[in-house]
Amino acid sequence: FSFFDTVTYTPPDAIFELTKTYNADLAARKVNLGQGTYKDENGNPWILPAVRAAKEKIKESNHEYLPILGLPSFRVLATELVFGKDSAVIQEKRVASCQALSGTGALHVAGTMLMRAFGRDRTVYITNPSWSNHRQVFESVGFGVKEFNYSLSGGVDMQSFLQSLNEAAPKSIFVFHASAHNPSGWDPSPEQWKQIGSIVKERQLFPIFDAAYLGLTSGDYDRDAFAIRYFAEEIGLEIAVCLSFAKSMGLYGERIGLCAFVSRTRTLATAVESTLAQLIRFEISNPPAFGARIVAAVLEDVDIDAEWRRNLATMSSRIAEMRLQLYQELTELGTPGDWKRLMEQKGMFCILGLTPDQVQHLQNEYHIYMAESSRISIPGLNRSNVRYVAECIHQTVK
Ligand code: PMP
Repeated sequence: FSFFDTVTYTPPDAIFELTKTYNADLAARKVNLGQGTYKDENGNPWILPAVRAAKEKIKESNHEYLPILGLPSFRVLATELVFGKDSAVIQEKRVASCQALSGTGALHVAGTMLMRAFGRDRTVYITNPSWSNHRQVFESVGFGVKEFNYSLSGGVDMQSFLQSLNEAAPKSIFVFHASAHNPSGWDPSPEQWKQIGSIVKERQLFPIFDAAYLGLTSGDYDRDAFAIRYFAEEIGLEIAVCLSFAKSMGLYGERIGLCAFVSRTRTLATAVESTLAQLIRFEISNPPAFGARIVAAVLEDVDIDAEWRRNLATMSSRIAEMRLQLYQELTELGTPGDWKRLMEQKGMFCILGLTPDQVQHLQNEYHIYMAESSRISIPGLNRSNVRYVAECIHQTVK
C-alpha cells in the first residue's frame, strides 16, 4: 500500500529536457536551437545593458515583503508600457493589475480569475499549434480547452480562425498571441486583427492576450502592442493581458510578469483587482521583488528606458539577420524545402518543416538540437554556426 498508488509517471517537459540533453552533450561543435531564449553573437546569454544599469540602481534595496499585488511602481509602469501612457483605459482607471510569476504565472492568475468570474461551463480556445503549456495551464484551473486551426504553411489560416470565432459559444475565452506567435511565427496583420476584433465584439467572446514577445517581435514595443491596444482602446472590449519580461528584458529566471484586466467601468476594475489580491494571497502571499525592481528601474528612468529600446532593436535585428543568413545559405546550397518562410515569419521561432526522423538525425549526427516539430529558436544561430547548421540541414534533407 502507498498513498501514492494513484500517481503515475509524468514524462518530463520536452523542451526543458532538450536543454538538459544539449548541456550534457560533450561534442566540441553543438548548436542549441531548442528553447526560446535570446543568445548573443557568441552564443552566450545576454544581460541587457539597460538591465545592468537598472541593477546598479537598485543594489541597496532591502528584502522586505512586497505588497500582495506587487511593486506599485512596476504595476503602474508596466501597465503604461502595454496600453500607452495616455490611453483611455488608464485615464479612466479601468485596468486591474497584479504582478505575476512571469508570463506563465500571469496566464495562471488570468485563468483562475476567469474561473471565478465565469464558472466551469466556459471553454478556453487555444491556437493549433500553440505553446506547449497553454492547454495544461487552463486545464489546471478547471476549464475545458479546445484548439482552433491557426496556421497554414504560408501564414495565418484566417478562414478557420474566423470560423472558430463564429462557431464558439458566446462568452467563450480565446487565447491570442499578441505578437510573434509561438511556434508558427505567423501573426495576423493589423487589418486581420480588426476583422478578428469585430467578431470577438459581436459574439461577446473574451480575449486573453498572451504577450511574451512584445518589443522583440519588431523591435518597437508600441507596434507589437497593436492588437492589445486595438481591442482595449479602439473597440472598447474587456480583455486580459498576460505580460512577460522574460524575453523582452532577458529576465528569464526572475519570473517577472504582469496580469492585467481591462473592465468596462472603474468600479468593476476595483472589484477585479480586489479579487486578484485575494487569489495572490492564498497562492503565493506576495510576489518576488527583484525582477519587479529591475523592470521598474528600467522604465522609470528616461536614459535607461532609451537604452532598453535600443537593446530591443539590437535583439530583433540580430534575429532578422540570422533569418536572412540561414535563408541565403540554404538557398545557395539548393536545399530542398520552402525557406522563404524564414524571412516572412515573425519572432524567435521558425518551423523548418522537417520530419521527426530528420530532427533526430540532426541531433544524433551533427549535435544540432531543436524541438521535435522542427521548430528552431533563431537566436541560437550566429555568424559562426549558421553555415554549419545550413550544411547539416542540407545533408539531412537532400
Ligand atoms: N507564452 C508563450 C507563447 C511563450 O512562448 C512563453 C515563453 N516560452 C510564455 C508565454 C511565458 O514564458 P515565461 O513564463 O517564461 O514568461
